Amino acid sequence: MTTTATQRIFNFSAGPCTLPAEVLEIAAGEMLNYQGTGMGIVEMSHRSKPVVSVFEQAEAGVREVLGVPEDMHILFMGGGATFQFGMIPMNLLAGGKSADYIHSGAWAKKAIADAKAVGKVNVIFDGKDSNYMSLPNPASVKASADAAYLHICSNETIGGVQWKDYPTVDVPIVADMSSEIMSRPIDFDKFGLIYAGAQKNIGPAGVCLVLIKKDLVAQCPNNLVGYLNYAGHIEGESMLNTPPVFNVYMIKLVMDWLKGKGGLSWAADMAAKRSKILYDAIARNDFYTCPVDAKYRSLMNVVFTTPSEELDNKFVKESEAAGLSGLKGHRSVGGCRASIYNAMPIEGAEALASFMDAFAAKNG
Ligand code: PMP
Repeated sequence: MTTTATQRIFNFSAGPCTLPAEVLEIAAGEMLNYQGTGMGIVEMSHRSKPVVSVFEQAEAGVREVLGVPEDMHILFMGGGATFQFGMIPMNLLAGGKSADYIHSGAWAKKAIADAKAVGKVNVIFDGKDSNYMSLPNPASVKASADAAYLHICSNETIGGVQWKDYPTVDVPIVADMSSEIMSRPIDFDKFGLIYAGAQKNIGPAGVCLVLIKKDLVAQCPNNLVGYLNYAGHIEGESMLNTPPVFNVYMIKLVMDWLKGKGGLSWAADMAAKRSKILYDAIARNDFYTCPVDAKYRSLMNVVFTTPSEELDNKFVKESEAAGLSGLKGHRSVGGCRASIYNAMPIEGAEALASFMDAFAAKNG
């Protein structure tokens, strides 16, 4: 590794977030001259052979790492996950259909708001009684008979609440997996559509990974504006317009890296280890509180508070000075939050846990 790479600090930001140093080094090395072509990948036509090949490899990498079945298309799209909040109901609720949504926190709320602007929405669970710090028991979730799909946010990045088991229902589940994709295996039988903004576990912000079952695409209306129509993106092989080439190139590199590490079983094992280190630090220091129902604590975003807002701010400031960056909670909820995605080394979680112990001892 270069000196620059060894001088990196631990970055606990929620997304954009830390990416594997090895991946950044490859990208940096290839920036000016991609594989002997005499130009960088961001300077090439998206129709050129090297770029088309990068897209094919990124798609193959996602399919292999996640085990995406052949009856599902893989798309890389602009607009982030937010664009999907509206595009999904536009495609799947045409003709007056309705969908079930679970309101589990800030991101589900946005998905619900956009779906309501497009079609009929039944909010079949609303977590307000727990202040969105808990989820329904997955076994108790029943979809409405006429629902076209059930929408869930599998990991609420701001609240730090994560489904441990996905519900089993009679309709396809549509899931926002932005902040947990590639961290554990997925039972694809349950899902009709999965989407994930890239900027946590797969690459830079701006691009969204969309996995959609072929039978759902067949039901999409054909009178939508071109960019809003999944069928057009599938036909254009994620190049309906000039695509975010650099982002997809980074996804390809991250998939190579993840395969080299051992894929999803490695990722799941590491996520369990990293999060345990932090939840243990919270548990052994009365000084910290995690507001999330213990059954649904996220392995990706660990939220906690100190005894006062003043101490929260002090914690964030002093941790930053100690080389632990990005620990401020989301501006809408305050407190502290450690986002620990695939690229966060175990040493990062250990360094944070030690800092937490020392800070509690000094300020408690
Ligand atoms: N869903 C979840 C769970 C998220 O965490 C985010 C972003 N943090 C989004 C959706 C929105 O993603 P984007 O900013 O890429 O549109």
